[in-house]
Amino acid sequence: MSQPATPPTLSDALQAKADASIARLRAAVAEYGLVTYSSSLGAESMVLTDLIWTHVPEIDIFTLDTGRLFEEAFTLMDRLEGRYKRRVRVVYPAASDIETYVRENGANGFYNSLEQRQACCFIRKTVPFRRGIAGFKAWVTGVRHEQSATRSAAQPVEFDAPNGLYKIAPILDWTHEDVWAWIRARKLPYNPLHDRGYPSIGCAPCTRAIEPGEDSRAGRWWWEATANRECGLHPKFKD
Ligand code: SF4
Repeated sequence: MSQPATPPTLSDALQAKADASIARLRAAVAEYGLVTYSSSLGAESMVLTDLIWTHVPEIDIFTLDTGRLFEEAFTLMDRLEGRYKRRVRVVYPAASDIETYVRENGANGFYNSLEQRQACCFIRKTVPFRRGIAGFKAWVTGVRHEQSATRSAAQPVEFDAPNGLYKIAPILDWTHEDVWAWIRARKLPYNPLHDRGYPSIGCAPCTRAIEPGEDSRAGRWWWEATANRECGLHPKFKD
């Protein structure tokens, strides 16, 4: 998905979607006050970061550094911070949790069983995520309806009961093409792995490139049954 020499202009239809997404973000701030965006640094995150830091800058943005990210994620963070002159809040796992996990399971224990994989996601993602949203009244997610069967049921605003705050999904109706049209037209930075067959990017040892025609999330935890391939950040449709 390389940047063309001359970025295309935005269609009226996509600008209207973006306006609606901005309106949802503003409404969330008006309704809930303290709102944070949990950025995965994926393609959708580039769109949402652009909308938030350009139009609704009072929304906090954080990301999880699990300790197993691709190097490209850090380069991308640098580029985002350079463009917008803002800092992404980075939340880390507890060192003691990692030490215990590695002592009991090995550094790559997540390949051994579903339980060990979910335990790794729990300490590296779920627990830090809960710290990231602590004190906020609503959090923003970049899920889109077309991403998977489970995500097709997502609502624009839901109460995230397990975490005790509202969940806002401002780009639910955006298509894959919409996301990339916005990235190209706005000349946004993005993870170069997207150009190498990685539509969905998580931790390095748990993400592979996909083949043409495969589901966009087929490269995440590819050794597991499809139904298990979520990480625990959302009860029904997770990153
Ligand atoms: Fe651990 Fe893999 Fe989950 Fe990352 S994606 S937290 S490395 S199991």
